[in-house]
Amino acid sequence: MSASVVVVGGGITGLTTAYRLREAIPDATITLIEGDDRLGGKIKSSPFAGIDGLDEGADAFLTRVPSAMQLVADLGLTDQLTSPAIGAAFVWWNGMHSIPEGLMLGVPTDLAKLARTDLLTWGGKCRAALEPILPATGVGADSVGRLIRKRFGKQVHERLVDPLVGSIYAADTDRFALTGVPQIFDLANNNRSLLLGARKARRNAPPQAGPIFAAPRTGMATLTNALADSLHASGVSILTGQPVSAIERSGRRWLVDGHAADAVVLATPARTTAPLVAGLSTDAAGVLAAFDHAGVVMVTVALDGGNWPHEFLTKSGYLVPKPVQKWVTAASFASSKWAHWTPSTPENGVILRISLGRDGRDVTHESDEALTTAALDEVSQHVGFDLEPTEIRLGRWPMAFPQYRPGHAKRVHGIESALTRDAAGVFVTGASYHGIGIPACVQQGKSTAALLGKYLANVES
Ligand SMILES: Cc1cc2nc3c(=O)[nH]c(=O)nc-3n(C[C@H](O)[C@H](O)[C@H](O)COP(=O)(O)OP(=O)(O)OC[C@H]3O[C@@H](n4cnc5c(N)ncnc54)[C@H](O)[C@@H]3O)c2cc1C
Repeated sequence: MSASVVVVGGGITGLTTAYRLREAIPDATITLIEGDDRLGGKIKSSPFAGIDGLDEGADAFLTRVPSAMQLVADLGLTDQLTSPAIGAAFVWWNGMHSIPEGLMLGVPTDLAKLARTDLLTWGGKCRAALEPILPATGVGADSVGRLIRKRFGKQVHERLVDPLVGSIYAADTDRFALTGVPQIFDLANNNRSLLLGARKARRNAPPQAGPIFAAPRTGMATLTNALADSLHASGVSILTGQPVSAIERSGRRWLVDGHAADAVVLATPARTTAPLVAGLSTDAAGVLAAFDHAGVVMVTVALDGGNWPHEFLTKSGYLVPKPVQKWVTAASFASSKWAHWTPSTPENGVILRISLGRDGRDVTHESDEALTTAALDEVSQHVGFDLEPTEIRLGRWPMAFPQYRPGHAKRVHGIESALTRDAAGVFVTGASYHGIGIPACVQQGKSTAALLGKYLANVES
């Protein structure tokens, strides 16, 4: 009899797990169950301002980590990729300031370039300049904020690293694990000076083969739709609109809301996963239930391009550091960043994606009116004139980003060990565990499919 697997969760991780499992075990019976009415999870593209697929959530993925590029190639989508036209951004600190050149995720690699910015005071620059001669700082505290402040002082942290890293994960870097930002963790772990280590890493990096970010021209959902099409074609049953509420043991097998399986994959956010495993492993459920997830809101607006300042056309957007932040944490000048998101009519000439809320400032429960007003008022203040949108879209992402608190890696190891011990055959995977970005999720889908393959081979023998 062929093995049967239930995958819970139809985001990029669950879809990739099912796809790679189908490749590895062609005759397995695979059922993917998604609670929402649509697949894709945090990936969603929809029409806006005359553009067919303008992303509501993730809008790109890193090409440096090969897993997502490989998946795109396997799905035959490489020809459909495009990349941002512009990378440079501003930081808003009571006015727009260009982000200095020579940073690696906000970590300075070049003091001369840092000296030229007006974003830091001379006191802040002098403090940062001490970094190369400081003794080593251990990585034991496992906090991005603590490490950066110790090495470079308060201003590099609050005006560069915290806004950059914080905007990627909706994080407060003082409460975010170093291991959750592998680029900075590796720098700190392998070098006494982060600045000298980052400079060396830049020098030794192979010549960039292509752009750093990529996305399908028709929106990120092209990727999840192609996965779903491939799964359908290969006989995977996909059920949507069916939130799973219970997993029970049935001899050596499992019952997932009545669906029998030899193995179960939970590709769902950690906090949501906790009640699903509560009856199987109290240790795993306890750790999962303690996870924090930050919610964000994305307000997308189209504006008449006539008023848009010329100097903004060469930037991809701006970040708002916490000391000067209200609800808006960042705004992407989406129509400048992406050449294919340039609307055809001048009335909709500029598209902004405005992000609100983060860890420690949850705004997802606020009314549509309060959120739209805050987005327009704050961005009007930042750009220096009143925004008068011709079109507005509001997207809520409660539990958008899992927060990797200090000690995250140990906690994840604890969950995985407890499940192996108490509920062998039940696996957790996805953004809550070994990386939040899309390439990390795709990689986890692949690794989980490999683990499943091994587990099923052992069970059968
Ligand atoms: C606004 C935003 C912008 C982002 N931008 C980027 C970006 O530009 N680049 C990048 O790399 N990453 C970005 N990310 C992060 C990235 O998109 C996510 O981390 C990733 O897509 C998560 O994938 P996942 O499959 O692990 O989880 P999810 O996408 O959360 O999928 C989990 C799925 O499980 C389902 N589910 C939950 N509970 C149940 C249940 N009980 N039964 C059945 N189904 C259930 C959910 O409905 C969901 O579909 C962004 C995220 C957000 C929110």
